[in-house]
Amino acid sequence: MIKAIYPGSFDPVTNGHLDIIKRAAKLVDKLVVSVLENPHKSSSLFTIEERINQLKLVTAGIKNVEVSSFKGLLVDYAKQIDAQVVIRGLRAVTDFESEFQMALTNRSLMPDLETFFIPTSVEYLYLSSSTLKEIAMFGGNICSMIPCEIKQEVLDKFTK
Ligand code: ADP
Repeated sequence: MIKAIYPGSFDPVTNGHLDIIKRAAKLVDKLVVSVLENPHKSSSLFTIEERINQLKLVTAGIKNVEVSSFKGLLVDYAKQIDAQVVIRGLRAVTDFESEFQMALTNRSLMPDLETFFIPTSVEYLYLSSSTLKEIAMFGGNICSMIPCEIKQEVLDKFTK
């Protein structure tokens, strides 16, 4: 059985993330989408619980997807849940340097943990949670960037 983990901030989950989740879920037996509790990111828009709930809502229809959160090193969490694979999405070349560094570092810490990169779908090439938040903050249209179920929750953060 192949168990994979897809870690990230997901602040909030975008259609780019969801596309990676759907495609990865077809390749593995179990996919754990896990929100990183990052002590260096104090400027998050959503709490960890809110992000977990959003991810659960948008992945409810995908049977082999589970949602969780973790603190500390990814390799330690991967060991804890018995995952053999890390899934990461790759957008433009700018992602490559840091993703490659992270994959090699994780591999030096845990040689059995493999990283699988999935290239973004072209329509999400320039989509990130931070771009989405900037557009939402100034009242722009975010419909094509975010799952419908959580669109209002994002807009409410900037209007309430
Ligand atoms: P962000 O950079 O949007 O804050 P996260 O830390 O939540 O992203 O990203 C988690 C993973 O999802 C990373 O591997 C990132 O490269 C990938 N990812 C983010 N946005 C996209 C996208 N639009 N298409 C493909 N992969 C993406």
